[in-house]
Amino acid sequence: MEKRRNYSRKREAILNAVRSTTSHPTADWIYEKLKPEYPDLSLGTVYRNLAQFKEDGTIISIGVVNGQERFDGNVKPHTHFVCSECGCVLDVPEEFINPDRMAQIEKEYHMRIDSADLLLRGICPDCFKKIR
Ligand SMILES: [Zn+2]
Ligand SMILES: [Zn+2]
Repeated sequence: MEKRRNYSRKREAILNAVRSTTSHPTADWIYEKLKPEYPDLSLGTVYRNLAQFKEDGTIISIGVVNGQERFDGNVKPHTHFVCSECGCVLDVPEEFINPDRMAQIEKEYHMRIDSADLLLRGICPDCFKKIR
């Protein structure tokens, strides 16, 4: 029983950690953040829970940036920007994919589209200042 409670406490802490930041964290980042409070936490537990949250639609994955998968607690439709200098992931609160056009594409190509993501790449404001 104690073990089970401990398990769900960790699960909740992992979810809260993802939701507490807009930095689109990696599993490593979450592990480092929670380790002081949960000394027996393993990276495997973090990975497993993130995979489960992702499957449930509680969080989303932005994909792999510089070799590490990035997660987002904000599941509302928005677009992501990845900086090719520092690897930061920023939110762009816009949808570039037009739902009407998607409906047309479904008809045209005889397919059902469940989701669409657009990833913008370039130089973030901070890096842009540095290179100028
Ligand atoms: Zn940058
Ligand atoms: Zn985001």
